[in-house]
Amino acid sequence: GEIMVDPNAPTMIRLAQAHQVLGTEPDARIELDAPRLMASGCQACGVCTQMCPSSALELRVADSVAHLSQNLSACSGENSCVASCPYGALSSSGQLRLADLVDRDVRELTSFPVSQCRRCGADFPDGEGEDGGAKTLCPTCERTTADPFSSWLPPGFTLD
Ligand code: SF4
Repeated sequence: GEIMVDPNAPTMIRLAQAHQVLGTEPDARIELDAPRLMASGCQACGVCTQMCPSSALELRVADSVAHLSQNLSACSGENSCVASCPYGALSSSGQLRLADLVDRDVRELTSFPVSQCRRCGADFPDGEGEDGGAKTLCPTCERTTADPFSSWLPPGFTLD
């Protein structure tokens, strides 16, 4: 009763499913639209998930651990996520290949323990504060608490 190859799935997904059913190796040269995304220094803000026009990124928090993942079949390779991350946490290195899709449809980009900001309630990465204790404020609340009247631009942005 289980449909092994979904006739309504995109071409690449059907091809990957067919390889799984047949137990054959896909042509290693076939590239997907999806870039090979990498995440380092993610702050669990969720901006990239909102900016992706294909809804290909998901940020999920379970048991105080944040998981950021890329849905390979949904990703259309526009790289809006890389450009929009205010912390410069995302980068891409080339294209994923069909063989990557055969193994799994979703790639976890990063996972890390989080706490809830005591001021706004947002999840943010666990870390040590300047006083040596655990951080209790998210990056945004930390910044606005330290200097309520300043303006802030994300890393890499300039006013000229
Ligand atoms: S990768 Fe960047 S934009 Fe996406 S959740 Fe992490 S910090 Fe926010």
